[in-house]
Amino acid sequence: MIGIVIVSHSKQLALGVRELAAQMDHGQVPIAVAAGIEDPENPLGTDPIQVYEAIASVFSDDGVLVLMDLGSALLSAEMAIEFLPEAQQQKVYLCEAPLVEGAIAAVVAAAAGRDIHQVMAEARGALQAKATQLGVVNRPSSVVNSNTPTTNGESPTPEIRLIVSNRLGLHARPAAQFVATAARFQSQILVQNLTKNTELVRGDSINQVTTLGVRQGHELMITATGSDANEALAALQALFANNFGEAARSCCSNKEEPALKTGFPSQATGVGLPNPEGEDNVALNSPPAFHHKVTPVTHGELLGIAASAGVAIAPIVHYQPTHILIKEYHVDYPDAEWQRLQAAIHTARQEIQAVFSQASIQIGDAEAAIFDAQLLFLEDPVLLEAAKERILEHHLNAEAAWQAVVDEVVTSYHTLEDSSLQERVDDVVDVGQRVLRLLAGNAPAKVHLDEPAILVATDLTPSDTAGLDPTKVLGICTTSGSATSHSAIIARTLGIPAVLGVDAQVLHLADGTVMALDGESGRAWVEPESHILDLLAAKQSAWQTAQQQALATAHQPAITRDGRQVSVFANIGNISDVQVAVASGAQGVGLLRTEFLYLERTNAPTEEEQLEVYQAIAQVLDHRPLIIRTLDVGGDKPLPYLRVGLREANPFLGSRGIRFCLDNLDLFKTQLRAILRASVVHQIKIMLPMIATVTEVRAAKTILGEVQAELNQAGIPFDVAMKVGIMVEVPSAVAIADQLAAEVDFFSIGTNDLSQYVMASDRTNPRVANLVDALHPAVLRMVQQAIQAANAAGISVGLCGELAADTLATPILLGLGLDELSVNPQSIAGVKQAIARLSIVECEAIVASALQQDSAVHVRELISTSVNPPA
Ligand code: PEP
Ligand code: MG
Repeated sequence: MIGIVIVSHSKQLALGVRELAAQMDHGQVPIAVAAGIEDPENPLGTDPIQVYEAIASVFSDDGVLVLMDLGSALLSAEMAIEFLPEAQQQKVYLCEAPLVEGAIAAVVAAAAGRDIHQVMAEARGALQAKATQLGVVNRPSSVVNSNTPTTNGESPTPEIRLIVSNRLGLHARPAAQFVATAARFQSQILVQNLTKNTELVRGDSINQVTTLGVRQGHELMITATGSDANEALAALQALFANNFGEAARSCCSNKEEPALKTGFPSQATGVGLPNPEGEDNVALNSPPAFHHKVTPVTHGELLGIAASAGVAIAPIVHYQPTHILIKEYHVDYPDAEWQRLQAAIHTARQEIQAVFSQASIQIGDAEAAIFDAQLLFLEDPVLLEAAKERILEHHLNAEAAWQAVVDEVVTSYHTLEDSSLQERVDDVVDVGQRVLRLLAGNAPAKVHLDEPAILVATDLTPSDTAGLDPTKVLGICTTSGSATSHSAIIARTLGIPAVLGVDAQVLHLADGTVMALDGESGRAWVEPESHILDLLAAKQSAWQTAQQQALATAHQPAITRDGRQVSVFANIGNISDVQVAVASGAQGVGLLRTEFLYLERTNAPTEEEQLEVYQAIAQVLDHRPLIIRTLDVGGDKPLPYLRVGLREANPFLGSRGIRFCLDNLDLFKTQLRAILRASVVHQIKIMLPMIATVTEVRAAKTILGEVQAELNQAGIPFDVAMKVGIMVEVPSAVAIADQLAAEVDFFSIGTNDLSQYVMASDRTNPRVANLVDALHPAVLRMVQQAIQAANAAGISVGLCGELAADTLATPILLGLGLDELSVNPQSIAGVKQAIARLSIVECEAIVASALQQDSAVHVRELISTSVNPPA
């Protein structure tokens, strides 16, 4: 029996269509639904995997007919077909028929035993009956696909004329709303700027609508042709009547409109630079990720999150990803090339959606909605058709075809000579580059500075940060992130002072503006006055002196005043970190974050490549212990080439760490083989991240056993007694710590994740940075529970979260009974010094009281007053 698949942005819509269609045949014809996405905040969307699963669920050799609503539904359906085995692909038909009428006609025909081609023809002709009854002649279907809009002279085409009253005309956000609304309807919407006497253009094309150059006071004519023409026009009219959700203002009034003057709101933790008086162009600015509009700001102090200690004074440079150069060539398989472009566009959409979600948290939905324009650009039917034609008809490679259509859009914007469109050009170029980068295998942009500077950016990914040169990047100042985000951790490891989560107005400063930054207090100053510079210079020199003093004893063992020796290990990500770590007095490596071997590249490292790195690190350690953590991607470390971290609404709660590895056994086994082979003559232990259940540990150990057996069989040596431990960083692991302790040789407590999961606060979100606090008694009690379970089972336990590097927390950690701390290399000396000043007896007393406090603030106060009682 032929199967039918309904693809829609809305689950409710798809289920409704299925319900209607099923009534026609009493459920004989299998109908599957692929609709909506798993994002409770934003459930409208389509997902190729869902479409694939729906097709597979109704597949038979008789064929499958897929009906879609619009926009990305088509892309998702096209991608889904690629996932099917080739033999099945031939039997799946994507049909442009109208969703409701088409589904009903198709079901009736399929139930009557027609073949797939007859079913498809029935679906396609489904509007005929309706059109005849209403006396409307449908436009020919070729017009739907045409880039040159035409109106159908024969049919009575309803039209409306509207005067644009919102102050900024159809700037990015209203244009996006207009196009999204137009695209919702089956009718073809055409629009003309009568004031500028432009051509009629397609209302569902963001680029064509933008080229109308619609400003306040312009008169537009909008026509709609199709079965839902009146509804479409009514919906568009409602947008205008509502001023696109912006504050209304008469086009003839000269008064300023205060509601439009709002810029980006200050971060909860930040003190914003004031907006300059009378600057009314702030609302025009797109979110910081895409624009570096230079706007004068009042000099001032910025308060952000103290993410990496140290002082920096330097001119600023905005982080701008490098542009990708492309080559043009002839392709022999244009269909595959078109699929490649669609896949890159699909991934680009997901990336933008991820930025969009982050931006809406940080700058509010209204401003973040401007990202819609970027998404619509990737859905623009005119643009996609032009790219498709270049590939399929001219056999051009995807990069060249894409670049050509993007260039055309940019040129068309430029020819309008409308300076306000420059920002739109930036958007188009940015989206264009994103797709090119993905086509090029997602080669990540490298930050390169010629002169020392403070880097200013919206955000830096862990791979951006890992690639920074500390001799050139003297400081980091971003508008997002938090102290335990991976970017912050790397900044500390590299010793680069960093202040994160400052007000987004910093992005409007001109390159070269001098900034001073204190990564310990989380403050930055724009063009600082001399007394600030003097204070910072004094602080910098005191900081350096203290560092030197600490370094002088850093190579001694860390022993408390009452004689307890505590091991201080290093957290590292690569070979240069281990060199710094050993030079700074590390007694071993408590955490090698292997994911950094996998970032900044386009495919996974081979067994040999990994072996070389593990051996090199172990060599530098010279028989000191090395704990290698298996791959922990996901969360804030997406890995596009492994398709991890990009498709999930909540990546920190998704396929991360051990979950991902157990789903990707080839990758996992390759890493285990490399670690085992490196263990022959070195003191290596293996550690599993993100363990939440005993089952995961057992599964991982079984795989390890299989790899060991394979190596044995191949006669390849490894350390048969290599210890296996787990990160305790998920609350469930604490709850069942006694059961987990029976399975492994050691625990390492990861307070960065444990805090975010216990406090239900994303570690990368500055708005909840104050909640992700490992010194909160809720987290400390969990840490205590994990330590007690380890002690009871007689296994060793250390702590490798960032809390270990905070010397204020040292008395708590020692008091809880830890005798192994693993910290970033820059902090080793300071932590050893802190240990030497304490006695276990006083630490235990502090802990007893700390666990009874009701907030992290009170824990901090308690420690400060207990260790350094006020005079
Ligand atoms: C942790 O979660 O505390 C930890 C050390 O791991 P990571 O920061 O790499 O997630
Ligand atoms: Mg972790």
